[in-house]
Amino acid sequence: MRIDVITIFPDYLNPLREALLGKAIERDRIAVGVHDLRDWTHDVHRAVDDSPYGGGPGMVMKPQVWGEALDAVCGTGEAPMPRLVVPTPAGRPFDQRTAIRWSAEPWLVFACGRYEGIDQRVIDDAATRMPVEEVSIGDYVLVGGEVAALVMIEAVARLLPGVLGNPLSAEQDSFSDGLLEGPCYTRPEVWRGHAVPDVLRSGNHAAIDRWRRDQALARTYRRRPDLLAALPEGDLDKADRAQ
Ligand code: SAM
Repeated sequence: MRIDVITIFPDYLNPLREALLGKAIERDRIAVGVHDLRDWTHDVHRAVDDSPYGGGPGMVMKPQVWGEALDAVCGTGEAPMPRLVVPTPAGRPFDQRTAIRWSAEPWLVFACGRYEGIDQRVIDDAATRMPVEEVSIGDYVLVGGEVAALVMIEAVARLLPGVLGNPLSAEQDSFSDGLLEGPCYTRPEVWRGHAVPDVLRSGNHAAIDRWRRDQALARTYRRRPDLLAALPEGDLDKADRAQ
């Protein structure tokens, strides 16, 4: 997969080169390009923002600069185009399903806004040439799209083949079956008086699977009843319902 990020703070994306993602880049599982939006300015101040039409506080990112940047990074429509992701608190919520869907894409481009956001015509114009999604990572407001892009890139990249050491971990994580994952434990058996649940040391794999499922159901019920309510009909078996 290829991932490009356009931002006025390229260094903000440095964590992409760390840890698991860094290794995935080294092993050519992902190719990452980070681009400084100011490279497409033409004035001495390298300005990327201007005051908003209609008045009000804050500044808006200029369409000319973004237009040129997107043309250069994404192309103008002759060759295959990427999926353009525009992080914004006013977007559709990003979730694991979105991450799975994007993990099948060959190319994602993230357009990181700042100030009050990007002139809407940039997004509308891009949508005439490529798929565009305006996406929010949660119901709160950040100062820029860089952290949101990092969150989404990490969620997508760990789903790509060869990125996680054990691909089974992604399959068993929270949300894969619509539930939150239950608690996990490692050695020692007793730590500060707290013991690991007996069943996990029993060697009885059917009992362990049942216990894990019950823990996931109970945790989801307590913390995210909305997820339980959204489970498709038939996803809960008889033993689940007895919980
Ligand atoms: N005026 C915008 C609004 O009220 O919807 C907020 C702009 S915010 C201060 C600046 C930038 O931060 C946005 O353009 C976006 O790139 C990013 N951003 C802030 N909160 C975000 C969120 N929850 N999800 C994704 N991106 C976010």
